[in-house]
Amino acid sequence: MGPRELIGGAILPRAYPLGRMSATPRPTLGWNLDHSYARLPTVLFDACAAARFEAPGLVIANHALACELGLDMSLASDDELAAIFSGQSLPDGAAPIAQAYAGHQYGHFTMLGDGRAMLVGEQITPSGARFDIQLKGSGETAYSRRGDGRAALGPMLREYIISEAMHALGIPTTRSLAVVATGETVARGAGKPGAVLARVAASHIRVGTFQFAAGLEEIEVLRALADHAIARHDAQLADSPARYAGFLRAVIARQAALVARWQCVGFVHGVLNTDNTAVSGETIDYGPCAFMDAYNPDTVFSSIDHHGRYRYAHQPAIIQWNLARFAEAMVPLLSDDEPTAIARANEALDAFAPLYRAAWLAGMRAKLGLVREEAEDLALAQDLLAAMHAARADFTNTFRALSEERAVDGLEPWTLRWHARLAREERPRSKALTAMRAVNPAVIPRNHRVEEALSAAEERGELAPFHELLAAVSSPFALSASRAHLAEPPPRDFAECYRTFCGT
Ligand code: AMP
Ligand code: MG
Repeated sequence: MGPRELIGGAILPRAYPLGRMSATPRPTLGWNLDHSYARLPTVLFDACAAARFEAPGLVIANHALACELGLDMSLASDDELAAIFSGQSLPDGAAPIAQAYAGHQYGHFTMLGDGRAMLVGEQITPSGARFDIQLKGSGETAYSRRGDGRAALGPMLREYIISEAMHALGIPTTRSLAVVATGETVARGAGKPGAVLARVAASHIRVGTFQFAAGLEEIEVLRALADHAIARHDAQLADSPARYAGFLRAVIARQAALVARWQCVGFVHGVLNTDNTAVSGETIDYGPCAFMDAYNPDTVFSSIDHHGRYRYAHQPAIIQWNLARFAEAMVPLLSDDEPTAIARANEALDAFAPLYRAAWLAGMRAKLGLVREEAEDLALAQDLLAAMHAARADFTNTFRALSEERAVDGLEPWTLRWHARLAREERPRSKALTAMRAVNPAVIPRNHRVEEALSAAEERGELAPFHELLAAVSSPFALSASRAHLAEPPPRDFAECYRTFCGT
């Protein structure tokens, strides 16, 4: 079966007319691309080009995000958008590169790099912000090793919907601008339709990028990378003599806040290697990630995470471990005297645990409608989770039920305690409940619904389930009655055997 049959005619327009495009003026959309990363030492990247795709077809385009970037997608036809976002017809000013990086994967150090992605450029928005525009799945690069440089449609749609859901939940994340079906079949099992995801990020600089630069043992390269990252993410530090220590502390603080946000929505990243930890503090590289249904701290979804290294409850410790690798990479910049540099790195790392605990507790207080701070709040939150675990209560729906004053089986004694605690707040309970409904989502991208939407798209070319789920998770704090089914937990047998796959 060819890719057209796999995808279905519904989402694959006719073959992209390359000849005609060269004759007609190209729509400009509003591109304003810069290449500050490509001005860094050349050892940090490699020029690349997209593979040739004969029949790219637009699957989905994010017009609202495009608008925020200063791009008007309505100026281009779907075929033209497909050509642009699969790398076949690059925007004016594009200069694609693949970025070099290294990383600890499951604890083991490896050389990596963009093996299936290219950075088209950095779009400067009308308000002056800078965002990487990256095409993932666009073909082989110097860093592909034995990989084919390709991505399959299902996983790219998965990244699209989960990253957009995270954004709607207010959690820092890379975003998804478009998915284009390449028209190719990629070698994944019996063969899957290929696709390219256009991804938008504050930057794609990873802990692994710093590990790569540090490994070169050329301090000027490391310094150039750090100055670049500071200019992009912590510009207020740029002129400070202590800017590298300040940057290290800022990255640690952002990651502590980020992982606390994940824990508060039951998100399991699934593959928290150091190359998947961004210095921007955005969630990056959605592979085998998933939201948990029933609360269980040992939840692990990834089919290859045999020892549960990246299980839910372990995420804060793993992020701390990744930050220790980051601090190590930064050591040469922290002082000329190594013992002093190491002491500074350790001092910065010591802040992680208290920052994480404070961010988590603040998140849990908000989930429970609490504004005042009482010493017993930590125990109140922990006891709720213990009761939820015992009752196998659904994580998302339990908090939502509390905020809608619906009883949850197994939580009666705890609920009495919480009501007594709410009574000690200054605002009336009704106000607290309203605030809770703005932080406890009514709907998340549940695994069984995501799988349904992806198989409809991949196997039958039907995008309606994907669009319906995307619409629901894009407004997660309000769910219309017609979409109530999307909030229901999966059948127990689904939840018990659900596994996610990466590298696809
Ligand atoms: P990921 O699991 O997506 O974070 O990828 C880990 C590393 O493997 C990165 O360096 C990717 O660029 C690379 N990689 C993943 N899939 C492919 C592929 N199909 N072809 C080439 N490189 C890949
Ligand atoms: Mg990665």
